[in-house]
Amino acid sequence: MNPTEIIKNLRSRRAALLGYLADLIAARTENPPGDEHRAAKVVESFCRRLNIPSEIREQAPGRSNIIARLGHGRPRFAVVCHLDTVPAGDGWLTDPFVATAQGDLIYGRGTNDNKGQMAAAMAAIEFLKEHEADLAGEILLIGAADEERGSALGAQFLLQADDLRQLDGAIIPDAGHRLENLDVAEKGLLFLKITCHGRQAHGSTPDLGTSAIYAVAELALWLRRWKMPGGSNPLFNPPTATKNVGLISGGVAPNVVPGRCELQLDMRFLPGTDAHELLAAISVTIGRLERKFPGACFEVEIMQEDVPTAVAPDAPLILALADAIETVRGQRPRNFGMSGATVAKQFLAAGVPAVGLSPGDDGVAHIANEYISADALVDFAAVLTICLTTLTGRNK
Ligand SMILES: [Zn+2]
Repeated sequence: MNPTEIIKNLRSRRAALLGYLADLIAARTENPPGDEHRAAKVVESFCRRLNIPSEIREQAPGRSNIIARLGHGRPRFAVVCHLDTVPAGDGWLTDPFVATAQGDLIYGRGTNDNKGQMAAAMAAIEFLKEHEADLAGEILLIGAADEERGSALGAQFLLQADDLRQLDGAIIPDAGHRLENLDVAEKGLLFLKITCHGRQAHGSTPDLGTSAIYAVAELALWLRRWKMPGGSNPLFNPPTATKNVGLISGGVAPNVVPGRCELQLDMRFLPGTDAHELLAAISVTIGRLERKFPGACFEVEIMQEDVPTAVAPDAPLILALADAIETVRGQRPRNFGMSGATVAKQFLAAGVPAVGLSPGDDGVAHIANEYISADALVDFAAVLTICLTTLTGRNK
C-alpha cells in the first residue's frame, strides 16, 4: 500500500481508535497506586480479538506490562507507550475517567499522556496485522507500567530481558510537540549533596572554629561562575550544560560557629560529556577550599545520576519517522533535545536507539481537563503505520 492509501485507510478507522481510547481512559490507572492490569486487559482483549500474540510481564502483582507482537525476525522495532497516568487531581469539568468529546478534542486523564498515543498505536497495529504477510521483520507494541514514578516496574524491568534489549529501535510517543519535533537526545543529569564539616566554636570566638557556612558559601559562588565543560549543542534549549544550587542548609544558632553545612546541586550536561569531568572539577575546587579553611572537610554524595543520550542523526528510525511525518502533515519535524527524560532514556541506556515524538499539545500532560485532538491521533496512527511499513516492509 502506498502512503496515500494508508492515510485514507487509517482515517476510516477513526471510530475504532476513539473506542480504544475510551476503554483505556475508563481503565483507571492512576499511579500511585498504578493498577496497570486494568489497561493491560484492554490491550489484551484487543489482541485476542485480532489473533495477535501478546504477553503480560509483571515485576509486582497488578503492575502489568503488556507486549504484543507482529511478524518475526529482524529488524525488530517497538512502539512503547505507558499505561499509567498521574492522579486525576482537582478542577475537572468532566469525569476524568470517561473520554468526553467536545468538537475535535477528547478530554480525560491520560488522553495526552499516554493513552491517546496507545490507542493510535493500536489502530496502526490493527492495520499492520491485516498486512502481516508484507512484513519482513518484527513489530512490538509495548504498554509499560510505572512511567510516572520512575519506571522501575516498567521499562527498567522490561529491559532486563534479552529479547527487549535486542531491538533495532524504539518509538516513544510521549510528551507534547504536535509532531513538530523528534526527541533524539537527552541531557545527562547529576544531583549532588555536598556536605561541609567545619569546627564548631563559641560565636564570640570565631577564630577558634571553622565556619562550614563560609566554606559552602565560597563553593556556591564558585559554582555560579563555573563554566561547565561540553560547549554548546543547538539541539537543546538552553544549548549548554546547566547547574542550579537548589538548597543550602547549615548552622544552629547565631552564637555558634557552624560545624556543618549542606548544599544540593542539580547539573544537566550534554552528550559527549562525562559525569566524572564534572565531579573532577568540583573536587579540585573543594581541595582548594579545604586548604583555605583549615579544619574544613567536604563530603560529596551522588543523589541521582543519568547518562546523557543521543541517537545518530542519520539513524534509519529518525529518517523514517521524519519522512512519515512529512508525508502525513506536509511539514518535516525538527530534531530536538530534551532536558527532562522519558522512557527513551532507559532504552538508549540499554543500547536501543529510541526517538520520542507526540501528536499532543505541549503543556497538557498532568493538568486538569487533559485533552487531545482526535484528528491529531488519526494522523499519528498514519505516521506510525507508514514509518513501521518503511522500517520492516518487504519492499522498502
Ligand atoms: Zn506523565
